[in-house]
Amino acid sequence: MRISPTLAVVGSGQLGLSSRFDCHLYAVQAPEGVVLFDAGSGLKHDWVLGHLRHEFADLSRGAIVLTHAHPDHVCGLAALAEALGWPVYASAPSKRIVESGDEAAAGLVATRAMGGYPPELRLTPCRVDNVYEDGVTLNLCGLSITPIAVRGHSPDSFVFLCELDGLRTLFSADVVFYGGVLGLINVDGSDLAGYRADLPKLARLGIEALLPAHGLFTLRFGQRHIDTALAQLAKGFVPRMVGQGDIIL
Ligand SMILES: [Zn+2]
Repeated sequence: MRISPTLAVVGSGQLGLSSRFDCHLYAVQAPEGVVLFDAGSGLKHDWVLGHLRHEFADLSRGAIVLTHAHPDHVCGLAALAEALGWPVYASAPSKRIVESGDEAAAGLVATRAMGGYPPELRLTPCRVDNVYEDGVTLNLCGLSITPIAVRGHSPDSFVFLCELDGLRTLFSADVVFYGGVLGLINVDGSDLAGYRADLPKLARLGIEALLPAHGLFTLRFGQRHIDTALAQLAKGFVPRMVGQGDIIL
């Protein structure tokens, strides 16, 4: 589903594009290839490949970037990386989880026990080719992308700042959603203290396009949503959180 000249959603449970257990999978036509953010649950990875083929004429070059190592983002990685042959980029802690197939560290064991994921959803180990670091800009297929570490949803969560179609764009993963909703969840590693420490890094970025991994996205005035959460934190209040009516997964 194309949402701007260079940007498409190529998988999503909520939008009905792929498995219901998939986060939004965004893909960007960069100057020298296609950059895919996250890999979904893997339960309908063939649908994701179909959307990629439909949206992009040339898939011979590309890169897969992981925002963090939760099941709905990484369990499809092994299948997609093999089918596409693209290098995988992840943070050091995500790399450890993905390469070892550590389902407990990925939160899969706990969420499966809560009934959040079916038994067939598994984390197949997959090699990560490149490790990115906080604030160190990457050149992915000719597109400049800056990872920013924001703990709170998970210890390994990153958001990604770039310029797309003339718009200052933030791929905000599960860190901050439309309406200033935060991704604080009842799983080990999710921590309001992380948000207190790191969310202020997203102040005054002048974001236009805000592209979260669940729920609504927007191409204009994205900073307002981030600022809403920041204002609540600054006043000593807990911002709205995922699962409380704004975003039903
Ligand atoms: Zn997550």
